[in-house]
Amino acid sequence: MAYDFDLFVIGAGSGGVRAARFAAGFGARVAVAESRYLGGTCVNVGCVPKKLLVYGAHFADDFEQARGFGWSVGEAQFDWPTLIDNKNREIQRLNGIYRNLLVNSGVTLLENHARLVDAHTVDVDGRRYSAEHILIATGGWPQVPDVPGREHAISSNEAFFLKTLPKRVLVVGGGYIAVEFASIFHGLGAQASLLYRGELFLRGFDESVRLHLKEELEKAGLDLQFNTDIQRIDKQADGSLKATLKDGRVLDTDCVFYATGRRPMLDNLGLENTGVTLDERGFIQVDERYQSSEPSILAIGDVIGRVQLTPVALAEGMAVARRLFKPEQYQGPVNYQLIPTAVFSLPNIGTVGLSEAQAIEAGHRVTLYESRFRPMKLTLTDCQERTLMKLVVDADTDKVLGCHMVGPEAGEIIQGLAIALKAGATKRMFDETLGVHPTSAEEFVTLRTPVAK
Ligand code: FAD
Ligand code: NDP
Repeated sequence: MAYDFDLFVIGAGSGGVRAARFAAGFGARVAVAESRYLGGTCVNVGCVPKKLLVYGAHFADDFEQARGFGWSVGEAQFDWPTLIDNKNREIQRLNGIYRNLLVNSGVTLLENHARLVDAHTVDVDGRRYSAEHILIATGGWPQVPDVPGREHAISSNEAFFLKTLPKRVLVVGGGYIAVEFASIFHGLGAQASLLYRGELFLRGFDESVRLHLKEELEKAGLDLQFNTDIQRIDKQADGSLKATLKDGRVLDTDCVFYATGRRPMLDNLGLENTGVTLDERGFIQVDERYQSSEPSILAIGDVIGRVQLTPVALAEGMAVARRLFKPEQYQGPVNYQLIPTAVFSLPNIGTVGLSEAQAIEAGHRVTLYESRFRPMKLTLTDCQERTLMKLVVDADTDKVLGCHMVGPEAGEIIQGLAIALKAGATKRMFDETLGVHPTSAEEFVTLRTPVAK
């Protein structure tokens, strides 16, 4: 049967754009439907605007620290609308770049909602298109628990477009978004609290990292409240909010921000017209080739709920494009081991490989190296922030299993170490590597004495 397209991609986010562009480059006839914004979550309401806000928030420390180096900067003033307007302008520029990337690679771009009609047909704005393969790359959406008054709360989607910076913010959650936005609001001058239901935030990260970040955030003046959760939210006559906690306490605030995870975006997608099945968490179930239970339909990125990170969605998109349209370049499914990641809190976390607990659970006998120090840049300032670096090493093979850092530019530093770990570096190779002096990063190659356990 002759189809309109070889590949129809639903969603022009990180994964969808990558798959579409490369498939078209390999000679396939490709269409992409996008209902909301080109570039998807990462470009519009995720990684990119978030990082811009983090840069904005860091200036508070920069101005303070500049004094120690002889600068008088006067009284610093911050204007939220300027930051948001400039951020919006930059995102618009990126939207244009994404449009050009798609159009110039020969992809047919349909800027509307797409709905599956059957295993080979998609409806966009009342028009039907047939395709040999359909790729679902529709991403995710904030998941807000069903507490009374949740309509008064916001999620990351709205946070990027607030008209004013709230004076007081309660951030609920203990994952990436909660920690990053609590740092952003605090840095920009709001009175920020982070409420997390468990003992300690950032479940899954190395315990030393979690504890170190807790100490540093508290030192910086962020209010962290663990083992707590909101029971209901009420709007007051003056427009402020009253959050009643499960332990009976009541907190007055101007903004409640839920960062409690993301669900797959399957709204009005028409999955019921196909044989696509979901896993027990509600994400699209795919095999190692990203093929769903309907053979002509594939899925990648946040909608399959494996690792919700842009570089992972990009790699999955690439794997699909290659397997279908350039099999001689196909290198197999994405390898989910050793994915480096950063949490852009202030200070940042950077991490790759196994945490101490994961290494022990996997049966390794571990040797641990840890260093905590005050970065050189802060020695002329009053800032008492300390950096943490930690290596988890296999005591039998000497292989470095995990590198963890909390401190300035941790994400930048961990990226290079991820290559070393991919290459199977041993602790001895770290030791034999000369440092770049004077940097914080050199500490990773000068850790000589294991910590006592
Ligand atoms: P998305 O990028 O979400 O794209 C899906 C696209 O599909 C969207 O544009 C959507 O409008 C469209 N769509 C949905 N349904 C339809 C339909 N039926 N028809 C047509 N179009 C449709 N990751 C990092 O690696 N680093 C970070 O620093 C980082 N920061 C983040 C910060 C925040 C606040 C958030 C929310 C996420 C962050 N992420 C970060 C995660 C990252 O954004 C996602 O993992 C990534 O965007 C997933 O890409 P995707 O292609 O699966 O989906
Ligand atoms: P996460 O899954 O990282 O964290 C969700 C947090 O919310 C957890 O602490 C979880 O607690 C808590 N939680 C979940 N449900 C409830 C509930 N009903 N009530 C109270 N608390 C709840 O999700 P995020 O929303 O922070 O981010 C989504 C994903 O986006 C991240 O996992 C990450 O993959 C990606 N991202 C990446 C970033 C980066 O690379 N820098 C930045 C931002 C997002 P518990 O641990 O107890 O389950």
